[in-house]
Amino acid sequence: ESAGNGKGTSNMDHPPLHVLSLYHRDMNIYGDSGNILSVTRRAELYGFRPMIRYYNPGDPWPDQVDVILGGGGQDHGQERIIQDLQKKGSLLADLADRGTPMLMICGLYQLFGHYFETSDHERLEGIGILDVHTVARSDRMIGNLVEHSPDFGQVVGYENHSGLTYLGEGAQPLGTVDQEGRGNNGKDHTEGARRNKVIGTYMHGSLLPKNPAITDYLIGAAADGRYGEGSLDQMKQAMTEDAGQELARLDSLAEQAS
Ligand code: GLN
Repeated sequence: ESAGNGKGTSNMDHPPLHVLSLYHRDMNIYGDSGNILSVTRRAELYGFRPMIRYYNPGDPWPDQVDVILGGGGQDHGQERIIQDLQKKGSLLADLADRGTPMLMICGLYQLFGHYFETSDHERLEGIGILDVHTVARSDRMIGNLVEHSPDFGQVVGYENHSGLTYLGEGAQPLGTVDQEGRGNNGKDHTEGARRNKVIGTYMHGSLLPKNPAITDYLIGAAADGRYGEGSLDQMKQAMTEDAGQELARLDSLAEQAS
């Protein structure tokens, strides 16, 4: 069994957190890999030892996965990974049901839904973890995106997609586009989708350096899953003053960027 499932972090020096970058090679545009840097940096400052694995089609699935991050990709990137994703669908759905946090941006957000119909009218069947579906249209939605989320407050980023995404009854939006941008479909003011601890969103940016509340949510959920409820709080209490100051500095940089 893993490092200390359910045993808390208190007896452990730098407890590991396993971060998986899903389809890193093909699904990682507009700076989405900055999300990995953000999670690992903040997790380190909290005292964890983040271990990053890069998963690409055909790779063996890692034994230990505490949080999964996936980025955007052009339609051809999506076509390259779709078959592998479909094979991994039930494994990912199982992890989602068990509360593994996941953040899926744009192209992978679409494929975590039921399907994505491309502008060539080709239908890519998604894995249906999020109750959404997406249909491309000819013009792209490009620009800054600012929304309000009940759990995370103001969320800022940048969107660039052709797909119009529609939420089914089983999906909560991540936020409401109330200031700037188009969001899921430019009509209903919703943006992104959530189910369990899975977040799908059109926010590039990178998202996480600019929105530390979401980064901490993912780290907290990852730590809870491996070490039991409240693990991140335990780690925060034991944090050094230097680490606290560095986190405050990152927060103020994020504030300036938004
Ligand atoms: N190909 C998808 C679209 O344009 C996703 C693009 C992206 O990930 N930025 O809708």
